Amino acid sequence: QKTTTMAKLLPLLAILHVATSFNPSTFLTRGTPTSTALKASNYDTVTVDLDDRSYPIYIGGKFDDDEGSKLLTQHVKGNRVFLITNDLIAPMHLERYEQMFSKEKQVDTLILPDGEDKKTIEVMSLILDRALELNLDRKATFVALGGGVIGDMVGFAAAIYQRGVNFIQVPTTVMSMVDSSVGGKTGVNHPLGKNMVGAFYQPQCVYIDIDTLNTLPDRELQSGISEVIKYGLINDADFFIWLEQNMEGLLARDLEGFKYAIKRSCEIKADVVKADEKEAGLRATLNLGHTFGHAIENGSGYGAWLHGEAVAIGTAMAATMSAKMGWIDEALVKRIYDLLILAKLPVELPVDSPMDEEAFLTAMMKDKKVADGQLRLILLKGELGNCEFTGEFDVEAMKSTINEFVAECAGPSSKSQLVEQS
Ligand code: NAD
Repeated sequence: QKTTTMAKLLPLLAILHVATSFNPSTFLTRGTPTSTALKASNYDTVTVDLDDRSYPIYIGGKFDDDEGSKLLTQHVKGNRVFLITNDLIAPMHLERYEQMFSKEKQVDTLILPDGEDKKTIEVMSLILDRALELNLDRKATFVALGGGVIGDMVGFAAAIYQRGVNFIQVPTTVMSMVDSSVGGKTGVNHPLGKNMVGAFYQPQCVYIDIDTLNTLPDRELQSGISEVIKYGLINDADFFIWLEQNMEGLLARDLEGFKYAIKRSCEIKADVVKADEKEAGLRATLNLGHTFGHAIENGSGYGAWLHGEAVAIGTAMAATMSAKMGWIDEALVKRIYDLLILAKLPVELPVDSPMDEEAFLTAMMKDKKVADGQLRLILLKGELGNCEFTGEFDVEAMKSTINEFVAECAGPSSKSQLVEQS
């Protein structure tokens, strides 16, 4: 049994060995913020208030390594750190973090293959295998250095390794800084559904160094911004307006702008998590656009769409459906589309999308918010900044929204095929 499993994993293990002769500075070319440089100690702290499991989120840029090292290592209770990243991020950022932790702790590293399609139980179990080989005990601290995929997998591994060890999130994408690293949702995908296997497990701290975004490709940056827009839509009209006025600065990687956008997003998420850690109700509102979005991700195969891109289309669908039900007015729908488009996010399915009504409905019924067979959605209602999580919605409005989006993506040739067939 063991041999079979290892044989399956061998191709993956091969990827774990990456060359080490990279020069991180070669990657630091894109959008390096030159405007308002932050002073080293000028960082913000947002607290996720969960009684004895409360933790800080440090948000800053231009951290010096001594300061970063102190902030991070105070959250490592034992002597050993297990630092995990992927083969794309490692050449850019691993050495720096390894050095910061190794000032005071013994550090072991693991480099996993990159990709949403690698967010599997098999890849996650490589973390457990290596931790056991290293004889890490229950006082070890796992550190996730990467985006949401690494954060979710490392958090899940920490939750189940020897029934739970400490872990630290060092998010390196906008998506992970504003969303996935905060709130303790961890897990992996299953071939039958996204994030279907996992645990609620809170980190000891979240350390956000905005400078790591300098190496992030534009498309990934924009994808993360869709979650930032979400916070404005569900909770904070002023923040939405701020985003309308400052989106161009964010796309240009303005450091101060990002500091504010990340802080405000983390504050909103921390408040929601404090009120409803295990998602009995309120926390589900953070999933605006995600039921449609996950269906798009599932239906298109993991990795075809970036998570935030699928969420952006899902947000456009949720807004369209809310207006069809008379819950919001058309003017708000237009503002939402305008902001998504300003953020260079997609608001419709591509012409070659494999999604049709049936594919949508099948995938949506696998959503984790389905309760006793009933689909529940987050829809916008009333003034900007308000939403409702509900199972009581107009099914026809949902179907007509899906069909509108599917028809748009079918393109002229597919439409004529449909006519010919009928
Ligand atoms: P990701 O982790 O796949 O990162 C996107 C890409 O950017 C990857 O190729 C990654 O290697 C690369 N990358 C990361 N940091 C980089 C950097 N600084 N420079 C250059 N490249 C870098 O994806 P993501 O968008 O960060 O996160 C999406 C994942 O997060 C999904 O799996 C989603 O389900 C999950 N998620 C979880 C939660 C939660 O509450 N746990 C919330 C939202 C999303």
